[in-house]
Amino acid sequence: MKDVFISIRGRVLLNAEALNMTESVGNYVKHRRVPMMLKEEDGSYAVYFVPAISGESIAHGLQVAIAEKAKENNLPVCKLCGKGIFLKSSNKKIFQESFGQNVDEDKVEETVIKNCVVEDIGGFLYAEETNVKRTSNFYTGYMVPTYEGLKNVVIEPQLHSRYALGTKFVKEGQMIYYVEVSSSPYTFSLDIDTRFIGKLTFDVERAGQLVVGDAKQKRVEVLLDATQSFLIENGYGAKKTRFLPLSEWESMVVAVSDKVWTVPSPFTKDYIEKAKKKLSKISNNTDLHVYERDGEKSFEEFVADVIESVKKRIK
Ligand SMILES: [Zn+2]
Repeated sequence: MKDVFISIRGRVLLNAEALNMTESVGNYVKHRRVPMMLKEEDGSYAVYFVPAISGESIAHGLQVAIAEKAKENNLPVCKLCGKGIFLKSSNKKIFQESFGQNVDEDKVEETVIKNCVVEDIGGFLYAEETNVKRTSNFYTGYMVPTYEGLKNVVIEPQLHSRYALGTKFVKEGQMIYYVEVSSSPYTFSLDIDTRFIGKLTFDVERAGQLVVGDAKQKRVEVLLDATQSFLIENGYGAKKTRFLPLSEWESMVVAVSDKVWTVPSPFTKDYIEKAKKKLSKISNNTDLHVYERDGEKSFEEFVADVIESVKKRIK
């Protein structure tokens, strides 16, 4: 199969979301915030604390989708990753529980790659007397408010109560709690590099050696299917049983190349133009796919068509 580098950047409008909460202080649950520096008109910079959804949250969602698609396609997934518990071979006990075998410390990476597609693609860190590290084959980061939305974004604590008066369990009052809810147009970034999928990377002597044979292509196809379902079904974030946001993708650019070729940051809305300009000067056999909300294709059609074209390209 042919390897590809896929770079995805987009903008999604999320209303009434509580997708990434941090600590709770008493009965108050806080939304994640990050500091953002913004250049002011006089050339100085000001800091804004704005709602964000972490890259870890995105990675978790994508790995859940990878585990599901891998199982559907009868590809190996370890016991813990199969349940959405991504402890990922971090020590001897977890390794034994995950793979049902004792650790041979000379073959940690090989055993993990062969027996768990999630860790082959998403990496792991085995930290015992011997340390073995596998870097993730996909890259993502914080979803933050877009430039045009950033200064107007608010976080609002919403009051909720569990009403239980009239039962023997509650004598006085109701249990009240607050959940911080936010609304914003958010940026989205995900890069995928298939080069090292199914290959050893850690031991310098053997790095680059393919240990899954022909199954590599199937693994990449599973990753593509997982990415499609992740994007179309909004696989990122948590707290969705009662705070399911209203979401709408505004735009997306996907670049598919032979080697690293990243789409410019979607923080400002000219990122689509910037991507086209970049392609006019630099191409790694790059195909550029652009989605805009008011175009002919629906978002779902766009994603499905892109994924199908990548599947053809890798064959
Ligand atoms: Zn695993």
